[in-house]
Amino acid sequence: MRKSLLPRFILLSTIYYLLSTGLCGCQDKALYKDTQVLMGTFVEVISPDENAKDIVFAEIKRIEDLLSKYKPDSEISKLNKLGQLKVSPDTLFIIKKAKSFWQLSDGAFDITVGPLLDLWGFTDKKFYLPSKLEIEGILKFVGSDKLLLQEDDNMVKFKISGMKIDLGAIAKGYAVDCAVKKIKEKGIKSCLINAGGQIFCLGDKFGKPWHIAVQNPRDKNDILTYLDLKDKAVATSGDYEQYFFKDNHRYCHIFNPKTGYPVETDFISVTVVAADGLTADALATAIFVLGKEKGEVLAKKFPDVKVKIIEERDVSYNK
Ligand code: ADP
Ligand code: MG
Repeated sequence: MRKSLLPRFILLSTIYYLLSTGLCGCQDKALYKDTQVLMGTFVEVISPDENAKDIVFAEIKRIEDLLSKYKPDSEISKLNKLGQLKVSPDTLFIIKKAKSFWQLSDGAFDITVGPLLDLWGFTDKKFYLPSKLEIEGILKFVGSDKLLLQEDDNMVKFKISGMKIDLGAIAKGYAVDCAVKKIKEKGIKSCLINAGGQIFCLGDKFGKPWHIAVQNPRDKNDILTYLDLKDKAVATSGDYEQYFFKDNHRYCHIFNPKTGYPVETDFISVTVVAADGLTADALATAIFVLGKEKGEVLAKKFPDVKVKIIEERDVSYNK
């Protein structure tokens, strides 16, 4: 989940919200706004309630401490090291959810891609183009069929040693959901959380939906579409967030778990609007891997979900 801040900052400006800072149109209605770096990205909280930000930051930090593969004491780091671990209910829940998205996406969404991220240098940012042979060697450690869950005692086990979980495609969505739950428990009804493009719009903004603008990832002055949202999550997956170029070819951080190669697609980004952040986050990544046709089939399994795909040709059209 830790990523270099530069690409995340670009993403932050990729989806943004149009709102007044400090005071809205009505002179007496203030919005409190604060930002912290968590989960390797900028987490921004905007709410008429002054207490929202501290609750959100504390909860996202709690989830990061459990799930980050970059924190040696996290449950995910321990599981990756030991090959089995009795985990907390949060960790079991997210792994279980991830496995159900793996099933629903016919294996396109797969949190066992960890060894591929390591091989290609995305984990330590020392990018590397491996040989076919190296990729084939690593693929035997990939596959959620080899990820075993014993729900009666919260045990997670790898079937073969050398496997590694990477929750980068789903953890921010879950963290935002947990934060929303916490602020709701405190009676807060209006809040916008943006964790590096993973957004949740709780309630409305002084009686109107939160107004979100989706920018052209290739040209930040170009707005592709607006979303007016209330009690909805938005997530975007794209090829522009983390990637490297080698011989004029772009290799992005989202992998096809079946081939072991970064996804090759005409998509620049996939934006998903859903009732919860985890679903939006997982589906955005899964649809990016699956492509348009199969992605649409997957999206149809979630009746309340809306998907906006931006392709290379849309962007040039909009320029
Ligand atoms: P971001 O978190 O940058 O907004 P995503 O939600 O699409 O973007 O997550 C991408 C991350 O998900 C990668 O950095 C990697 O950690 C992980 N990942 C890559 N490929 C897959 C895949 N096929 N299934 C599940 N997780 C993946
Ligand atoms: Mg995702």
